[in-house]
Amino acid sequence: MSRRKIAVLGATGSVGQSTLDLVAAAPEQFEVVALTAASNVEQLSKDARRFGANLAVIANETLLPELREQLQGTNIQAAAGSSALAEAAAGEAEWVMAAIVGCAGLEPVMAAVEAGKTVALANKEALVTAGHLMTEAATRSGATLLPVDSEHNAIFQCLAGQDREMVARLILTASGGPFRDWSALAMARVTPAQAVAHPNWSMGAKISVDSATMMNKGLELIEAHYLFGVPADRIDIVVHPQSVIHSLVEYEDGSMLAQLGPSDMRVPIAHTLAWPRRMHTAVERLDLLAVARLDFEAPDEQRFPALRLAREALAAGGAATVVLNAANEIAVETFLGGRIHFADIAVTVEAALANMSDPIPQSIADVVELDARARHAATQSLAETVS
Ligand code: NAD
Ligand code: MG
Repeated sequence: MSRRKIAVLGATGSVGQSTLDLVAAAPEQFEVVALTAASNVEQLSKDARRFGANLAVIANETLLPELREQLQGTNIQAAAGSSALAEAAAGEAEWVMAAIVGCAGLEPVMAAVEAGKTVALANKEALVTAGHLMTEAATRSGATLLPVDSEHNAIFQCLAGQDREMVARLILTASGGPFRDWSALAMARVTPAQAVAHPNWSMGAKISVDSATMMNKGLELIEAHYLFGVPADRIDIVVHPQSVIHSLVEYEDGSMLAQLGPSDMRVPIAHTLAWPRRMHTAVERLDLLAVARLDFEAPDEQRFPALRLAREALAAGGAATVVLNAANEIAVETFLGGRIHFADIAVTVEAALANMSDPIPQSIADVVELDARARHAATQSLAETVS
């Protein structure tokens, strides 16, 4: 069997590194053709050499000379900037891991989708901001979208071979994050270090903060709506602190199917890497006797207003989810920089949604433009808050 040619967009991040970890353990199955990163030249060039990639792309163009220098003496092509990112996504690879964080991943993901690739989609912000454009493009090009997000991957597995007409509800589980049982008062003043310390998962900083505000679950609600074509009123969120059940599908006959596994992203990533087959992983197995019990709680939208904001944005339609995402990205960045309080994140997003009056974006260019405008507006309103 020939090896599957893969590209990893966002190779230096948490999901990107987990992907490469799986590939390293199965070199007979996969051939890495392209890797990309924002600015970590050292890790990028190290991995490009290690996996014998053909192309290494650094998003930050000022770092191209440094990347070239690091790759001297190899046949690896060094490139930089957005057209090179699109080339990594739409070029030689058959399978593309979309693991760039934020709306910055949108254009490269779309390049892969339009080129008809099998796209393993971790970059949830791309679906949140351009869900309908992306699923339409996939239908046109014949691209396959495989969800990497553990909840959506679980649902994808629970839908396989089933009667889609008979789906009653999707149930997304949420760990509740590090502040699940904290009072609103205690939560208002948490530090970035406390917010990124997730109890069950090890992830990049942005998604860790999103988990702490539960905006992550809000983004996942929108993601699920676009991926599976299920209306928001039939997508429930249940807090499940053990993160053992990764999500469920309820059918009209009363059956509920769930996917369980360890809290290790290598499990859903491996599912997409080998799809439609399966592969072995060295991941530590779930020990049901050690888990012993599974708890479920209703989410608290008072303490976690992000859940309500995401539902409202999805109900309002196209432009609102772009604004929700952009304001959240800026607010999270500002919080991580220590310049606003934790509770200000949701306040910023709510204000951005209240002030928006934009038409539904009709193209990726529209989304990119709206995203830039919404970021600018959120940055300005935060500058006023901080000063
Ligand atoms: P991360 O911050 O660890 O890594 C992000 C990657 O994107 C890095 O390789 C970085 O170089 C690259 N990147 C960042 N900004 C960029 C830009 N402007 N242009 C080009 N590249 C850029 O993030 P992560 O935790 O790996 O998450 C990646 C995506 O996967 C996010 O959308 C996240 O929501 C999603 N996701 C992550 C996890 C997880 O366990 N980490 C789980 C589910 C979903
Ligand atoms: Mg998730």
